[in-house]
Amino acid sequence: IEQGAFSVYYQPIMDARTGTFRSAEALLRLKHEKLGFIAPDEFIPMAEKNGSIIPIGEFVFEEVCKFLSTVSEEEYGLSYVEINLSTVQCMQRDLKERFAGIMRLYNVPARRVNLALTETAAIYSRDLLKLLMESFEDVGVRFMLDDYGTGFASLDYLIQYPFSVVKLDRELVWAMSEGKGLVALEHTVKMIKELRLEIIAEGVETKEQSECLKELGCDYLQGYYYAKPMPKEDF
Ligand code: C2E
Ligand code: CA
Repeated sequence: IEQGAFSVYYQPIMDARTGTFRSAEALLRLKHEKLGFIAPDEFIPMAEKNGSIIPIGEFVFEEVCKFLSTVSEEEYGLSYVEINLSTVQCMQRDLKERFAGIMRLYNVPARRVNLALTETAAIYSRDLLKLLMESFEDVGVRFMLDDYGTGFASLDYLIQYPFSVVKLDRELVWAMSEGKGLVALEHTVKMIKELRLEIIAEGVETKEQSECLKELGCDYLQGYYYAKPMPKEDF
């Protein structure tokens, strides 16, 4: 952070109904002088282990708020940005106060950020996680369940926690080319819709996948078929 080695990239998310980009996912990038870009899958687990994920996560949140304060919704059509939260961050007692303070600082309304959690977030304490999510509700920040369909206890999460959006894991999306995969995908989308939750599909790489997901009723589509993560200037 001190050396300015981190930057936040944005991957556009397509609104299936309007066919326009209305949101984006914030993805962290680490550029090393000699090694070039280091993948988040490598450095995030390390940052979680040594605790530096706390300041790093706050850096990401602040960068996104800063960015949102410069792109008005009316002018650019960007409604909200999705931010990945690590399990370790969820266990921080003052997380809500800190994030709410940053949103106030940049004058960003809560509906313009969406916090993404994976199922591992309840590993430490289910009650604590629920309290955290509920405490954010009165600020108006929405939560998204990430990587749905590949982990454990997914159904229980949908029922027990106040999520507004669910993101289908790319493995589930890619499995549609097999008969069994398509059946699982169809019924998963149907169930999530009947639970009155919004649904995003990630890892959309082909036209066929995009058309099938639209037909099934996914609300949002994200993947290389539309756009890769990019620096904010390009976005
Ligand atoms: P994720 O949340 O599942 O993020 C989606 C990953 O899929 C991103 O990789 C993205 O570049 C990639 N992706 C997007 N579209 C496609 C596609 O069509 N095909 C394929 N093959 N891949 C696609 P990335 O940027 O390397 O991020 C990896 C993981 O690192 C993320 O997985 C997330 O768990 C974590 N991460 C990234 N940024 C942050 C952050 O700011 N905070 C935390 N806590 N975790 C982060
Ligand atoms: Ca994510």
